[in-house]
Amino acid sequence: MSSAAMPAASSLRPVFRFAPSPNGRLHLGHVRSALLNAEAARAAGGRFLLRIEDIDPARCRPDYEVMIFDDLAWLGLDWERPVRRQSEHMADYGEALARLEAMGLVYPSFETRAEIARAGADRPDHPKDPDGAPVFPFARADMSAAERYRRRAAGEPFALRLDMAAALAQIGRPLFWQEEGEGRLAVDASLWGDVVLARKEAPTSYHLSVVVDDALQGVTHVIRGTDLKAATAIHRVLQQLLGLPAPVYRHHPLILDADGRKLAKSRGSPTIADLRAAGVAPEEVRRRALEGLPLAPNARRESGTTP
Ligand code: GLU
Repeated sequence: MSSAAMPAASSLRPVFRFAPSPNGRLHLGHVRSALLNAEAARAAGGRFLLRIEDIDPARCRPDYEVMIFDDLAWLGLDWERPVRRQSEHMADYGEALARLEAMGLVYPSFETRAEIARAGADRPDHPKDPDGAPVFPFARADMSAAERYRRRAAGEPFALRLDMAAALAQIGRPLFWQEEGEGRLAVDASLWGDVVLARKEAPTSYHLSVVVDDALQGVTHVIRGTDLKAATAIHRVLQQLLGLPAPVYRHHPLILDADGRKLAKSRGSPTIADLRAAGVAPEEVRRRALEGLPLAPNARRESGTTP
C-alpha cells in the first residue's frame, strides 16, 4: 500500500526556495542565493522552489519576472512549477494579519515617514534597528485605541505595526533559530521595535508574507544573504505567534563591489544580462557567483582528509 506511504515520504524531502523580487535584473548576488539553494536541494534529494516576491506594485514589474526566469534557465537551473507569485495570494497574508490583530498585537500608527525620521534624528542617542534605521520612536500608548480606531475609520493613511513588547510578552519565553554552521541563535526581536506589517495602501509586508509563504509551501531550509540575518528574529516571532514551523536558516556572505558595498543596480553593478551581453558563459557566471565563499558548513566537515 504505497499510496498511504507516499505523502509521508515526500513530506520528508527538504524544501528549498529562491525568492527574488522582480524589481530589476538579477545580479551575481541573486545568482549566489539561487545556486546555493538549488545545489543544497540537489544534494539533499530535496525540492527547489522559485517564489516571486512581488507585493510592491510600485517597484515590481511582470517583464522583470520573465527576465528572472530567463536568466535562471540560462544558468542551467530548474525549479518546480507552478511558481508562487505573492501578488496572487494577498488573502493569505490578510488572514494572518487578521489573526495577529485579533490577538491584540497590531495597531495602526499615523506618523508619516518624515515625522518618524525627524523624531529619530532629533535624538542622536535614539536606538537604530539592525538595518540602521531609527527604531519607531513613538509608543502605542501615546494615543488611545479609540482615537486610533477613529482615525483609521476616517480614511487617514496608516501603517499597521506589531506591538513588539506585547508580542514578546505573549510568547513568554526565549526564542531561537537554527543557523546552519552556527547552531541555535537567540532571537532579539526587541531591537527592531514595532515593525510595520502592512500599510493602508499595502495589505502586507516582506516580513509577514515571507513567513506565511515559507510555511504554506512547506519550506524547510532558507538560504539567503546575510543582509537578512537580523530580520530572522522578526520572522521567528511571527512564526511563533501564528503557530508556524521554523525552517533551518543559512545566511551566506554577500558579494561586494570594489568599494566593499553590496551590489546594487543603482550603483551600476553589472547584471546577469550585462554579463550575458558581454559574452560571458553561464559556467563562468556560476563560478563568479560562488567565488570566495567559505566552504558550506556541511562541506567543511567532509573536507578533512580521511585517516
Ligand atoms: N525577496 C527577498 C529579496 O529579494 C528575499 C527574501 C528571502 O529570501 O527571505 O531580497
